[in-house]
Amino acid sequence: MCGSCDASAPSSNAVNGQGAANGQNGHPKTTTKVSNPYAAVHDSLSNIGRYKLIESTLREGEQFASAWFDTETKIKIAKALDEFGVDYIELTSPAASEQSRLDCIAISKLGLKAKILTHVRCHMDDAKLAVETGVDGLDLVIGTSSLLQEHSHGKDMTYIVKSALEVIDFVKSKGLEVRFSSEDSFRSDLVDLLSLYQAVDRAGVDRVGIADTVGCATPRQVYDLVRTLRSVVSCDIETHFHNDTGCAVANAYCALEAGATHVDVSVLGIGERNGITPLGGLLARMTVAAPEYTKGKYKLHMIKEIEDMVADAVGVNTPFNNPITGFCAFTHKAGIHAKAILNNPKTYEILDPADFGMTRYVHFATRLTGWNSIKSRVEQLGLTMTDEQTKEVTAKIKELADIRPIAIDDADSIIRTFHMGLQDQHQVAAATSSAPAVEADVPTTEAVVSQ
Ligand SMILES: [Zn+2]
Repeated sequence: MCGSCDASAPSSNAVNGQGAANGQNGHPKTTTKVSNPYAAVHDSLSNIGRYKLIESTLREGEQFASAWFDTETKIKIAKALDEFGVDYIELTSPAASEQSRLDCIAISKLGLKAKILTHVRCHMDDAKLAVETGVDGLDLVIGTSSLLQEHSHGKDMTYIVKSALEVIDFVKSKGLEVRFSSEDSFRSDLVDLLSLYQAVDRAGVDRVGIADTVGCATPRQVYDLVRTLRSVVSCDIETHFHNDTGCAVANAYCALEAGATHVDVSVLGIGERNGITPLGGLLARMTVAAPEYTKGKYKLHMIKEIEDMVADAVGVNTPFNNPITGFCAFTHKAGIHAKAILNNPKTYEILDPADFGMTRYVHFATRLTGWNSIKSRVEQLGLTMTDEQTKEVTAKIKELADIRPIAIDDADSIIRTFHMGLQDQHQVAAATSSAPAVEADVPTTEAVVSQ
């Protein structure tokens, strides 16, 4: 058990009770105002309640090891993401290949609500190609770390600033949105980085971007860099976090707290190496931190459908521990958890499965089960037992589950046999003759606890 998860514990962070006030979808409404230790910090820097998503499955995601999207699949994914409510959809550079260029044109013509961006090197040739595809904006990128300056493009900072301003000027002259981002920002010289961003901000970019291209940054480093950047530029700030060390969601969240406005995400986090901030994982976090904004803006019920679509397209399974859609994301097993969940789901759930079109499941066919779970199952099977009898049959289930793993059918069979024994004892023969036929229709796998 995790004592720190106790939402009823006194806390100095009791700035509001918003997390406890949404009484809907299975989580009972809390009538008294309680402290909320997981509430977001809403200071003047924070954009937690007004963040925007730049969905990059069709750019960063195309860099995933097993990704190959044909035009039809790209269009299907783009339409689904648009319906879901993302603000931007980012596409592979038209300079990457002829088909990539044609796909930019095709998706730009769909008339989606989301703005279409393409991600290109900060180079005039690429920019010229991109502005002709019909996209709404260009995401310009150039490496600024000493490693990239030396081993990748071989240009120094003077050259980088000069060419950035030329390309930005060109894109703006075409009336398109423009973002300028460094690559590997966290291993770039801070003074270089800030002067570069100041220069492009003065040149009128819509956003500057910082990118943790190698996944090295920690939340605290992210907070410090974004807060510093916020104080030197007036434009929006986009962020891009790789997940090499498991910090991609936390870093994105901290960036928003520090004043970033946009977060790059991809479905299931697919991207180069082990990818970037996942759409579903970030939205799990944001549903907790900014429930009204997040639930009002995004069609959260579509997360599973979109993840399944992309998983299928790139030939992977949804990870078992995926936030929201992992197969056990809302499964409760330990007896003590199950008892509390049956009384009030908020005791062990920070997310309400119903918000995402998912269902809760209390796992009762296990040696960790408790009699409250079995009582619930007995009721679901349409049987009647006293609490003492339920405790007795629970002991029998635990006895078998100590010897081998048991299935739901095993537990049900023990319950039924026990119940029939009770009936024999009390000689209620008339009632027993029709009972099995009625019981046979009871669901055996889903939603032991209804929503
Ligand atoms: Zn990336």
